[in-house]
Amino acid sequence: MKCTNCGGKLEKVKYDVGFGIVVDSYTCSNCHHNVTDEKTLDAVMEKLRERMAVRVKLVKVGTGIGLRLPNEIARRMKLRQGKEVEIITQADRLVIKEK
Ligand SMILES: [Zn+2]
Repeated sequence: MKCTNCGGKLEKVKYDVGFGIVVDSYTCSNCHHNVTDEKTLDAVMEKLRERMAVRVKLVKVGTGIGLRLPNEIARRMKLRQGKEVEIITQADRLVIKEK
């Protein structure tokens, strides 16, 4: 495999992305351009998301069930009371999406 940036030789490297996750990646010996397989990258992103998951307990809100978002997540995602979001159900997860 050759570097897509300069055509140099790619060397296989282990790349530590943190959270105890190590990825097989390729780095150009000439220009240090890094190439990681897209499938590998997707798998890593999924693992990272799982490692960064936050546990919360569902609460009772009226006759329904509520989910209290940790302040840190609310701040990071710029969520505030009254803001409308979309809830998408997937096989084993709920996705809360900004509208
Ligand atoms: Zn290169």
